[in-house]
Amino acid sequence: MARYTGPSCKQCRRESVKLFLKGDRCFTPKCAIERRSGTPPGAAGGGRGPRGRQRISEYAAQLREKQKVRRMYGVLERQFRRHFALAVRTPGMTGENLLRILETRLDNVVFRTGMATSRKQARQLVNHGHIRVNGRKLGIASANLKIGDIVSVRPQSTNLDVIRNSLERSESMGTPAWLSIDAGTRTAKIVALPERDQLETTIDEQLIVEFYSR
Ligand code: SF4
Repeated sequence: MARYTGPSCKQCRRESVKLFLKGDRCFTPKCAIERRSGTPPGAAGGGRGPRGRQRISEYAAQLREKQKVRRMYGVLERQFRRHFALAVRTPGMTGENLLRILETRLDNVVFRTGMATSRKQARQLVNHGHIRVNGRKLGIASANLKIGDIVSVRPQSTNLDVIRNSLERSESMGTPAWLSIDAGTRTAKIVALPERDQLETTIDEQLIVEFYSR
């Protein structure tokens, strides 16, 4: 499947916000947003956009919010639209449904469990067959998990440096309440669907709903 192969930091700079796409580096002073004060690419010295001085239109605000979330979760437009269509069909608030669908993607759950330091790394673990769901290999990063599903690392992969280091680092970062982690067996169970206050607080999902409802 096609995917974005450009520089990750450029995406953060475009949205003028930290999207945490590069794992540990995002928490260091080397972060491009920290170093360049959130200046968008190609706009040296007070660019336009959310942090710039120029007011943006309603449409631009909706578009930027949609792009921000899409890039945050590493989802291409076509798949994002599919997630949105499913959110519309699901009972409840469309915006919250969309966030819940994104949050329960397999790659995101692997990231949330601490097995990977970024969603991109989590996607690689899934694509390379290191992750199991309910005891069976599942190599589809976009698969939506449900309550009761158990995510684990394939026994042959538990000693991979990338997983071991991520899990050690994640011990100090905590786990979302909707996931139950067993550090001993390196498994995670989905015990509930995330509530809105357990989801990303920097997102205005209503703008995304308005963008697709034009
Ligand atoms: Fe974004 Fe991380 Fe790069 Fe900072 S280091 S700009 S948060 S991807």
